[in-house]
Amino acid sequence: MTTTTFPIDPGDMPALKRWLAAQESGSENIHSHLHPVEIDEILIGPDVLRQLPGALQRAGIDLGSPLVLVMDETPMLRGRDDLKLLVQSLLNNAGYHVRPLWLAGDHHGLVHADFEQVQRVQAAITPQTALIALGSGTVTDITKHAAYLYDLAHPGQARSVYICCQTANSVTAFSANMAVLLKDGVKRTLPSRYPTAIISDLGVLASAPKAMTLAGLGDCCARFVAYGDWYLASALGMVAPISGTEHVTSHVLDMIADHYRRGLALHGAQVGVATITAAQLYQRFLATFDPRAVDIDACYPGASLIRTHVQQLFRQVDPGGAMARECWHDYSEKLLLWRSSRMRFAHFCAHWHSLHRPKLASLVCSPHIVHTILAQAGAPLGCQDLQPVITQQEYNFAVQNGHFIRKRFVLGDLLYFLGWSV
Ligand SMILES: [Zn+2]
Repeated sequence: MTTTTFPIDPGDMPALKRWLAAQESGSENIHSHLHPVEIDEILIGPDVLRQLPGALQRAGIDLGSPLVLVMDETPMLRGRDDLKLLVQSLLNNAGYHVRPLWLAGDHHGLVHADFEQVQRVQAAITPQTALIALGSGTVTDITKHAAYLYDLAHPGQARSVYICCQTANSVTAFSANMAVLLKDGVKRTLPSRYPTAIISDLGVLASAPKAMTLAGLGDCCARFVAYGDWYLASALGMVAPISGTEHVTSHVLDMIADHYRRGLALHGAQVGVATITAAQLYQRFLATFDPRAVDIDACYPGASLIRTHVQQLFRQVDPGGAMARECWHDYSEKLLLWRSSRMRFAHFCAHWHSLHRPKLASLVCSPHIVHTILAQAGAPLGCQDLQPVITQQEYNFAVQNGHFIRKRFVLGDLLYFLGWSV
């Protein structure tokens, strides 16, 4: 058995901040800039839920203050207790005035992370009101972004207090300062804010449905391929933060769900499945890409041609055209950058075998490893294992066209410009 020691304990934020500061001051590179992590504390432990009132007081929220507790209508347990009642009585007994804010779901009972929901939460915030998100990814994204927009609209006030009380280990983004929200039917990753504190109570997380924990594992697997996409984008002079092929595939599966009259599968479960696919694409690309066979001119198709293609693609699933417009808005920027970085692509081809191929190969995992990790845990391995089941036709559409939805460059972009079929 092997044990992994993380160099930094996320439960010790002061140590993490000292470590970040030391990296910055020790760096010779004047362009190096590590952003501060504006999270005051992350509590992880078997019974840390009870520390929620203490975390509020440490954040400057006095006893007697109102709290907006944001939740969806999904029943949740902690052991045998009703979690939502438990948290309300914990806070009321501590002397706070809890105002539950229930987010309503659609006809499938699902809450969507869209601006309508964000505005409802934002409207409930007043000065000295703390926000608590009691939920998993969607509730967290809605609450986080409401706090962010409230802060933006009140520049003279101290930053609002927003506490993330995660109810499942279903995604990796609880600690992120970004939110994924629907805009005109397209999933957009937007700058948002860090939580003041995160409460990761192991009793709560252990009581979450197993499928949600497995989804969290799938979301973690993203880095097995996303590092390759980051490198590729950087080497080609394109835009490169955060997630890659696996996430755009998952986002498109969500975007086309309405058209196919189905509910949404868990984000992390989709990401896990798409990570296997992306790893297979990388394996094929690394094994067979021959820069001598590349016709560079053919890698720069005309913008109007691609625009028509993107419109036709997304009008299939959204005849109104709003989704196609939103995709093209971002994608057209990527296309411009791709044209202006043509020298970088020529350089990339010239140094493929000596530099880029070995580097990419070191950053991307084999599909076998990703498959083994997910299989041993019992996580979904293909679109037919997702809940609800997603057809191969829908899945192929997402894999082939995920790169059209936003400006970040992924392997799918390069394969498209090279004329490969995926
Ligand atoms: Zn994710």
